[in-house]
Amino acid sequence: MPLDQMPLDQIQVDRLKRVGPRMLERLQRLRIETVQDLLFHLPSRYQDRTRPRRLGELRVGDEALVDGVIADAQIAFGRRRSLKVWITDDAGNGLMLRFFHFSPAQAEAMRPGRPLRCYGEVRQGPQSLEMVHPEVQQPQDQDAVAVGEALTPIYPSTEGMQQISWRALIDQALALLNASAGALRDWVPEEIARPLRLPSLAHALAYLHRPPADAPVQALIERTHPAFQRLAFDEMLAHQLALRRMRNFRRNVPAPVLEGDGALRTRLLQSLPFRLTDAQQRVGDEIAADLASPLPMMRLLQGDVGSGKTVVATLAALQAVEAGYQVALMAPTELLSEQHLYSLHGWLDPLGLQVGWLSGRHKGAERDAMLQQIASGAASVVVGTHALFQHEVVFSRLGLTIIDEQHRFGVHQRMRLRDKGEREGTTPHQLIMTATPIPRSLAMAVYADLDLSVIDQLPAGRTPITTVAVPDSRRDEVIERVRQACAGGRQAYWVCTLVEESDALQAQAAEDTALALTESLPGLRIGLVHGRIKAAEREPVMAAFKAGELDLLVATTVIEVGVDVPDASLMIIENPERLGLAQLHQLRGRVGRGPVQSFCLLLYHPPLGAAARDRLAILRRETSGFAIADADLKLRGAGEVLGTRQAGNAQFRLADPLREEHLVAAAQRGADHMLQHWPEHVAPMIRRWLGDREEYARV
Ligand code: ADP
Ligand code: MG
Repeated sequence: MPLDQMPLDQIQVDRLKRVGPRMLERLQRLRIETVQDLLFHLPSRYQDRTRPRRLGELRVGDEALVDGVIADAQIAFGRRRSLKVWITDDAGNGLMLRFFHFSPAQAEAMRPGRPLRCYGEVRQGPQSLEMVHPEVQQPQDQDAVAVGEALTPIYPSTEGMQQISWRALIDQALALLNASAGALRDWVPEEIARPLRLPSLAHALAYLHRPPADAPVQALIERTHPAFQRLAFDEMLAHQLALRRMRNFRRNVPAPVLEGDGALRTRLLQSLPFRLTDAQQRVGDEIAADLASPLPMMRLLQGDVGSGKTVVATLAALQAVEAGYQVALMAPTELLSEQHLYSLHGWLDPLGLQVGWLSGRHKGAERDAMLQQIASGAASVVVGTHALFQHEVVFSRLGLTIIDEQHRFGVHQRMRLRDKGEREGTTPHQLIMTATPIPRSLAMAVYADLDLSVIDQLPAGRTPITTVAVPDSRRDEVIERVRQACAGGRQAYWVCTLVEESDALQAQAAEDTALALTESLPGLRIGLVHGRIKAAEREPVMAAFKAGELDLLVATTVIEVGVDVPDASLMIIENPERLGLAQLHQLRGRVGRGPVQSFCLLLYHPPLGAAARDRLAILRRETSGFAIADADLKLRGAGEVLGTRQAGNAQFRLADPLREEHLVAAAQRGADHMLQHWPEHVAPMIRRWLGDREEYARV
């Protein structure tokens, strides 16, 4: 069949002109196999030569066309000989142009008073913004620049592929797209696409590859143009479809119906020294309803640090136990699993329930005994780290899996957990908890396979933490502050941080600090915990701190999650500039858990870089995890915050669920509609955007 009558997803790229074996290999590296794939390889940006920018509006990193008049030109003899040309504009702003390679004639041409038009990337120079080796145009050519060439697409590339090759390939793909109406199926049905009032798929693709001369440049560069929005919508829709399909597939296997009579839950609630907040109550009801249904629960519970997720999870656990099932509670660190064990003993021992604990420190006979308790069903609730998911751990009747403080997890991990609990035709319910709150629309976009519950309220009586930044030149004052606080009966944390991920170095830093503080603070009772201290030695220290028998706990970031000592009201964080916002917020959340005013001192090492200064300013200003997550997303973008890359999570090529927030709900509704009414469109739509990505292909 002639190429121009074939659907584009059937045409292999090697049928195009200019594609030889080497180029084929390069394209494959980018997972471009068919002409359809090529067409969906969109420019990542455009060079804008349509209009000159004012010198005063340039920012570092911009690629811009500028007009100016030469004010000064000199040959500088530094480490490298260079030609420096200072241009200015009517508004009196200036820009340095710097050339390292130039002929005498070129230097000669840079005479003061001459107008100059340049195109280049703006960088921060020693004294001012500058462009290194801009393209320089003769003023008389100015009007000769064809506007059509002015907005040049730049394609994401791979080694050995020039932009000019991309353009030549895309030209062929666009010609085939236009050759026949059937070249590219639009899998999105009319009733979903029309209300969005966005261009057709073919039109959007053609537009983005070859923007017309009068295209609104800014909208293209900022990706707010309707053509871009149409494709971003399609991509989000494809992700929703993939995740929904995965979820439906999982839901084909029933979960046990965990109704329970409420007896254990009532007794726990009566024993608590507080009442649940309305938010805890509401979220608890959502979970209870899920557990009582044979559809496996897959719920993400978000709640700020200290919002009281543990008690909500414990109520869910008791519901499972009432129904005769076991519960696995998984924590990301040994220390947090110990903390949970401690709380659960306090809450569940009086109810006559046995709490199991599977830890890396259990060896030999002890470990066998624990495995036996899990296998026999004697242990109702079993706490542990990911060691819980090793395959020699066999539960008698696992009804519910709870995963605590899971900040970063991708589709892979979720799939693996699902596989773990599946036995004899049933699958356990799943509750995942996180203190990294993300906006609902973003959660909907990236966790479309999960239901979402949010505890959006802190227990009453908490006083917001006051956070201040102090340079480490004032360390003595900070130490004095610790002394006074402890003398007044308060407890404090001193957190040592290091950039290196090395446990050994972290541990060393904490040991040195503990030693130094013991010397400067005679009379204070000081404890030390870090990742290198064995659980058996760490536990008594934590217990003593909890019981108020220690005044000051020196620690590494191992205490980041889960440590809960309500009387601690002062935290010092050394070198906070080394940590990210979310981590700092987590750490700080160890204080402010009781009614007294709490303080967090960020003992930084000057000078601070701009990014670190921003982070610390946000932390001082904001106390809510939601506000901090929001700021973090703006600073770093969704991919970084969610750790999607590392976690093998769904990655978007074009869409940014923050920028395209207004389309998320429509994509979700659209996915449900397509699954129901257009099932045969689902697979090709997913393949178009996600290819055969392993995590989705398994369904
Ligand atoms: P997180 O959501 O960070 O895991 P925790 O579950 O550790 O928070 O709860 C923090 C502290 O608040 C604990 O000491 C817990 O017992 C207490 N707490 C939980 N719910 C309430 C409530 N409704 N009123 C008062 N204190 C509560
Ligand atoms: Mg917690």
